[in-house]
Amino acid sequence: MEERIFGKPIITQEEMRKRIRELGLKIAEDYQGRDLLMVGVLKGAFAFIADLSRATPLPLRIDFLVVSTRAKNNTDSGRIDIISDIFQDLAGQDILVVEDIVDSGHTIAFLKEKIMGQKPKSLKFVALLNKPQRRKVDVVVDYIGFTIPNKYVVGYGLDYENKYRNLPYIAVLDKVQEE
Ligand code: 5GP
Repeated sequence: MEERIFGKPIITQEEMRKRIRELGLKIAEDYQGRDLLMVGVLKGAFAFIADLSRATPLPLRIDFLVVSTRAKNNTDSGRIDIISDIFQDLAGQDILVVEDIVDSGHTIAFLKEKIMGQKPKSLKFVALLNKPQRRKVDVVVDYIGFTIPNKYVVGYGLDYENKYRNLPYIAVLDKVQEE
């Protein structure tokens, strides 16, 4: 028996482009005249930060950190591991953390505590997607692209077993069993 997985688009490429353009302009307005550091949370945010940063007309800087896949696949545990950290001093900086999706909220809560410990000037979060129905911890997400229902989604950086990150839209997985 072969299992095939199909993606049903729920947010199109065009909808995403439009919303990211709006987010970029809003962020540029909010950070006008400041020295912004965008920090992408890999791997999921790679596509979003590439487009969001280019939609933000500011001389901003970009850095990345990598959090563990294990924690991301088992977010209910609340256990997050940093696989690769930001290689610069965050003290006194205006930081905007860029996430693919906020689900339980554990990742953002963890990153907030960790980054605040380094005394930044300011810290905000932007997520392309928000699944509020799955929230386990109360977190503030300052900018949100789209709020979606409680479905497992892939595409535009988001994976299923490390695949589908290259889909240019957001899709809900349909599992199809074939004889
Ligand atoms: P949280 O700590 O908010 O539960 O976890 C957020 C992380 O879980 C995201 O960065 C993402 O990697 C993963 N995640 C949560 N929901 C989904 C989903 O619907 N699809 C995919 N591909 N990953 C998800």
